[in-house]
Amino acid sequence: MNVQPKASHYINGRFVEDEGGSVLDVIYPATGEMIAKLHAATPNIVELALEAARTAQGEWARLKPVERGRILRRAADLLRERNADLSRIETLDTGKPIQETLVADAASAADALEFFAGAVAAFNGEFVDLGGPFGYTRREPLGVCVGIGAWNYPIQIAAWKSGPALAMGNAFVFKPSENTPLSALALAEIYTEAGLPDGLFNVVQGFGDVGAALVSHPVTAKVSLTGSVPTGKKVMGLAGSHMKHATMELGGKSPLIVFEDADLENAIGGAMLGNFYSSGQVCSNGTRVFVQRNVHDRFVSRLVERTKAIRMGDPLDPDVQMGPLMNKSQHAKVMDYIAAGKSEGATLATGGNAPTMQGFENGFFVEPTVFTGVTDEMRIAREEIFGPVMSVLAFDTEDEVVTRANNTEFGLAAGVFTRDLSRGHRVVGQLQAGTCWINAYNLTPVELPFGGAKASGIGRENGLAVLGHYSQLKSVYVETGDVQSPY
Ligand code: NDP
Repeated sequence: MNVQPKASHYINGRFVEDEGGSVLDVIYPATGEMIAKLHAATPNIVELALEAARTAQGEWARLKPVERGRILRRAADLLRERNADLSRIETLDTGKPIQETLVADAASAADALEFFAGAVAAFNGEFVDLGGPFGYTRREPLGVCVGIGAWNYPIQIAAWKSGPALAMGNAFVFKPSENTPLSALALAEIYTEAGLPDGLFNVVQGFGDVGAALVSHPVTAKVSLTGSVPTGKKVMGLAGSHMKHATMELGGKSPLIVFEDADLENAIGGAMLGNFYSSGQVCSNGTRVFVQRNVHDRFVSRLVERTKAIRMGDPLDPDVQMGPLMNKSQHAKVMDYIAAGKSEGATLATGGNAPTMQGFENGFFVEPTVFTGVTDEMRIAREEIFGPVMSVLAFDTEDEVVTRANNTEFGLAAGVFTRDLSRGHRVVGQLQAGTCWINAYNLTPVELPFGGAKASGIGRENGLAVLGHYSQLKSVYVETGDVQSPY
């Protein structure tokens, strides 16, 4: 199970170690076993990474976009070729079942690099007719961009941020979550092998203090964070105090609304995907499942039946559908929320236990859990749990459910299941969320922008929109006649 990388950091095209940094133990969440030992970045490592990025960026920005894209495209191909190995690393680092990592992690990273490799050449400024004179705008890179990742989708987050940033001509320094430091290093090696010049993609490890040092450094032009709302507020504040660009991809408590005319089997499938995938550790999860009252009981009984059939266990077994949570503290947090749900009067319809799995006695497992009879004031309906805990809430009318769905500080995502497409579009038009699904849940193709409203975030990832967030506009006015001067 040893997946020790050659060194902790990757700077200027090579692995770098500095044992002066505090020790970072990497734990396999299914067994609690240590699988690698790294060091957090010292101030010297942070300097080296940012300096390498600054030095490399200018020449990279002068390449034609198609030339930059060609390198990213090669990296996408390498990610796909090595999907099996990368998925294994991701499973060991996160505990997510191999069944998921094989299709959702390096594969999604490859999709992103492939998309931005092509899209960037067509992402141009505009011509502005000024009736004789004219203007045009140029899309210019920001310079050195910093990415800070959460632990649920490590390689996907690294690629969703670095792909568009590099395509636009920026250099990048990425700090993974200290819980999942491994796959970003593999991505760095792949970039180098694909022909990315040294210094353009650097990885430094560490805790929040390393993230903060990267954000506040004078060389840094922008930070893109994926993390919780409290961390987002800190990082956004820090970026603001240094007048840096910032994108915040934060947490949520998203509503998933099931109307009485919905295809119930599809709605149940969507609700399960939106609560149990990655053991519920997905930012956009639809953790408040509103079900119209006259189909509520039928919905719940099939949901419970299907939830009980989920296979939990060894994440490396391809038949296993659910693995453990990330770590001990996340496990304790989720179990506390389950206790809160019970004590606040919700009905535990299934799950709720921390099972001991044979051979995985020290793993951080929690059963897929469904609460019914949940009301809007309960903590399990208001706070992000980030675990496999679904709350089912009954509702009567469309107006009522829209009001209740929007009654939250968050606004990351929302879903609607209905066969009435007019209603589907009408309802998503009123939902305060950055990403909405009609008759689906949690699909995030790279072509479609992704991000949050309200406290769930600022800026967007993916789609052409993200290229705007990794560039700045320069306006150019061109005179075609004489200068009209009063002097
Ligand atoms: P955290 O907010 O705890 O951490 C996110 C990252 O920020 C980590 O790398 C963390 O380092 C770093 N960090 C912490 N404090 C600071 C600071 N003061 N300055 C700079 N960096 C800092 O999130 P988790 O890793 O626990 O991830 C779970 C959260 O992420 C959930 O709320 C989830 O909803 C959200 N998320 C959002 C997504 C989205 O796209 N909207 C996608 C995935 C997750 P360290 O880990 O070392 O503390």
